[in-house]
Amino acid sequence: MRQIAIYGKGGIGKSTTTQNLTAALAVLGEKILQIGCDPKADSIRMLMGGKRQPSVLDTLRKEGEVNLDDILKVGFGGIKCVESGGPEPGVGCAGRGIITAIGMLENLGAYTDDLGYVFYDVLGDVVCGGFAMPMREGKAKEIYIVASGEMMALYAANNICKGIVKFAETGGTRLGGIICNSRNVDREKELVSAFAEKLGSRMIKFIPRDNIVQQAEIRKQTVIQYAPDSTQAQAYLDLARKIDENKHFVIPKPMEYEELEQLMIDLGVIE
Ligand code: ADP
Ligand code: MG
Repeated sequence: MRQIAIYGKGGIGKSTTTQNLTAALAVLGEKILQIGCDPKADSIRMLMGGKRQPSVLDTLRKEGEVNLDDILKVGFGGIKCVESGGPEPGVGCAGRGIITAIGMLENLGAYTDDLGYVFYDVLGDVVCGGFAMPMREGKAKEIYIVASGEMMALYAANNICKGIVKFAETGGTRLGGIICNSRNVDREKELVSAFAEKLGSRMIKFIPRDNIVQQAEIRKQTVIQYAPDSTQAQAYLDLARKIDENKHFVIPKPMEYEELEQLMIDLGVIE
């Protein structure tokens, strides 16, 4: 069972990319569990055809106990879907909630032997406390970061790498690559590739920005389901194959802020 965490800045496209990736892997025949680790709780919506399902933490709060059947639902391609949920707004720590939710899933027997993959879709501009949970105790040994050519996305990705370094020593966590989810920034492919190489990693796939993502989203579907023959679906399928075959895992070498800025100057992205 490969356990993989997808990190990246808020709004960068983690949930969109993760759902299309797991849908693609399911089409390729894999058995998958996807766990949303974002208090926004919208990680599995398109796999579930838009149906909102009770999160682990909401159920725990309301019922005082949790049955696996209440919180684990089967979506597109047989993908098992769980949403960790979050604390009540303004009360409690979201990171702590994720620790509770994952612990509970373990006790309830959600990690069955037939699974080929477990994916964690994790919020985190920085990897603090509970948001590091999927990396701790050697759970997710493989991390992919979703980024774009925008400065703040790269800045967040670099910070996430600092978190990975910390857990690389204790939990054996490794970076598997950077997924570029395009924002149509100038020289984006070169920039994100150069950034990934500076980290000692690589850009595993460039995912184009395409309106078909929105069209599928309106229909509460992944692109894999909505338009399986589209070039965008092919891009997600290719990402799935690359991750499936990946052997390039590293302890990243995070950059100093100045170095990151210099990289953008060298490529002529900023002056
Ligand atoms: P995150 O999970 O990182 O917060 P989301 O996956 O929710 O981000 O993405 C935010 C929005 O960006 C989504 O509503 C989606 O419509 C859009 N989006 C993501 N990736 C793409 C893409 N490759 N092309 C077009 N729109 C995209
Ligand atoms: Mg999300």
